[in-house]
Amino acid sequence: PMKKIYLYGNWKMNMLPFEGEEFCRTLGNKMQGDIYSSEMIQVCLFPPFLTIPEVLKSLPEDVPAACGAQDGYFEDRGAFTGEVSMDMVKAVGCSHVLVGHSERRHIFGESNEIVAKKLAKAIETGLKTVLCFGETLDERESGKTLAVVREQLESAFAGLDKDKSCCRVILAYEPVWAIGTGKNARPEDAQEVCAFAAKMAGDYFGTHPKIPVLYGGSVKESNALDLLSQHDIDGALVGGASLKVDSFLGIYENYRKISV
Ligand code: PEP
Repeated sequence: PMKKIYLYGNWKMNMLPFEGEEFCRTLGNKMQGDIYSSEMIQVCLFPPFLTIPEVLKSLPEDVPAACGAQDGYFEDRGAFTGEVSMDMVKAVGCSHVLVGHSERRHIFGESNEIVAKKLAKAIETGLKTVLCFGETLDERESGKTLAVVREQLESAFAGLDKDKSCCRVILAYEPVWAIGTGKNARPEDAQEVCAFAAKMAGDYFGTHPKIPVLYGGSVKESNALDLLSQHDIDGALVGGASLKVDSFLGIYENYRKISV
């Protein structure tokens, strides 16, 4: 199977501007050869806000790699100290943005309602928007995973303009208990939830081509093939392993080597 892989790297609160520059230079040198054509892969890096300009400057133009922000606010302007608006994200040159990352939800208390507002604003601004969702360990153990995911997606989709959204929404299933813990979801469990999300998105937006669904949560070279081979997993959202070019691209190479 020659499916295109989305390889997205969330740097979280890591990487100074000079480190971002170095990363991009190395990335450009390594993303060479047929497997790095734009039909095969799309890379997107999500640096901290202040590292974004350096990354945008140093991303080589001849490789399919983009840059996005890790968050953005749902208001355009005003007295919101510390916030960055979606049109600011767009204005510096980002094509993408994350919303609803589990660290935003759980450390910074973002509700489904806030995530829905951010998603709607990001889409309206014209950004490709990665909506992150996923259950906690408690929720999984009590059998509530699909109910929780349904609620997260329903509330997020509710405020969206369907026509604008179809080609801008990207979904990322990230079980909270798998993020930064070294414990990835079993491929068949990840597949089940990603298929469920893809079906919900399909029913809601009725779109062709289908909305991509990424899996995130301790993705690394050693588990990449099993996860990325699942039918409804279109790519990976990577935290820890995205901080080094080798471990980041290694995820993709492990998949592609076996499945070309
Ligand atoms: C993430 O932050 O989106 C993530 C999946 O992190 P990690 O790969 O480190 O689990």
